[in-house]
Amino acid sequence: MLLALNATFAKPTIYILATGGTIAGSSSSALSNRYSSGTVTVDKLIAAVPQINEIATIKGEQVSNIGSQEMNNEVWLKLAKRVNELLASKNVDGIVITHGTDTMEETAYFLNLVVKSDKPIVMVGAMRNSDSLSADGPLNLYNAVNVAMDKEAVGKGVLVVMNDEIHAAREVAKTNTTAVNTFASPNTGKIGTVIYGNAKFYMQPTRKHTKNSDFDITKIESLPRVDILFNHSNDNPDFANIAVKNGAKGIINAGMGNGNPYPSVLEALGNAVKSGVVVVRDSRVGSGETTNLGEVDDVKYGFLTSDNLNAQKARVLLMLSLTKTNDPKKIREYFLTH
Ligand code: ASP
Repeated sequence: MLLALNATFAKPTIYILATGGTIAGSSSSALSNRYSSGTVTVDKLIAAVPQINEIATIKGEQVSNIGSQEMNNEVWLKLAKRVNELLASKNVDGIVITHGTDTMEETAYFLNLVVKSDKPIVMVGAMRNSDSLSADGPLNLYNAVNVAMDKEAVGKGVLVVMNDEIHAAREVAKTNTTAVNTFASPNTGKIGTVIYGNAKFYMQPTRKHTKNSDFDITKIESLPRVDILFNHSNDNPDFANIAVKNGAKGIINAGMGNGNPYPSVLEALGNAVKSGVVVVRDSRVGSGETTNLGEVDDVKYGFLTSDNLNAQKARVLLMLSLTKTNDPKKIREYFLTH
């Protein structure tokens, strides 16, 4: 169902904010795996899908034009502030953000925690560049605009639309390096589907987001450094030590299984806590909860645990948590509610 709009018969106004990625990628061959991300401008992305102009008043803005492996705090803050500004206007009904798939889940979760609006915010990308045979970007974009116009999308936080599926920002993850069905929500499943623009929702995100989130970046110009460590057999404590030495304020440790660090890493992380760094135990597995007080004595070491966030999402939440407090009790509460 479409949103009730500004004027009775007016089409909804949807802003497309382009940041780059494969959806804006180009290649000299329709059959090559070699291409460059972030080379096609927002105007060309819109022109490639004329059908979206029939259903909405579309306005395009270029926020950046990068492969999302280059995504950084400056673009995040700029994007979040622009989304907040646009959605505060009664003339804007929803936002679609085109983005590379590599870090889409991180940007989606960041925006989910700092945008202050109920209006639909939909992220979309592509696995095949715009010159590919059977490029997936145009239909993904068409579907994303339809979801951004849908009243069922109101109040669900930031959504990711890819490959006919709708995922919630907190849950979604890239799970395959090249497949068009790469996005999944490993802990909860997708929340809806969208088939040639026809969206249906089946689930509702329950954790705090957007208007109910505890985080606000209105006055924030930079974010604290939080590093991720990936553990393995026969590991060593060097990366943990260097993270502390080089000024990390937080560490997400993607441990083995239920977040188990290698013994020498465990000791280095314990020392990190003693020197004031907030350490969150997470898992390299990619799904499931990292349980507090499992095989590791979190109380003795002063560690927090990530609930069921993957390491890259736990990093986003810890960065934002550290903009407010260093108190582990309060940060634990954020991890259990966002
Ligand atoms: N490296 C690209 C990016 O994330 C991959 C993609 O968009 O699918 O920008």
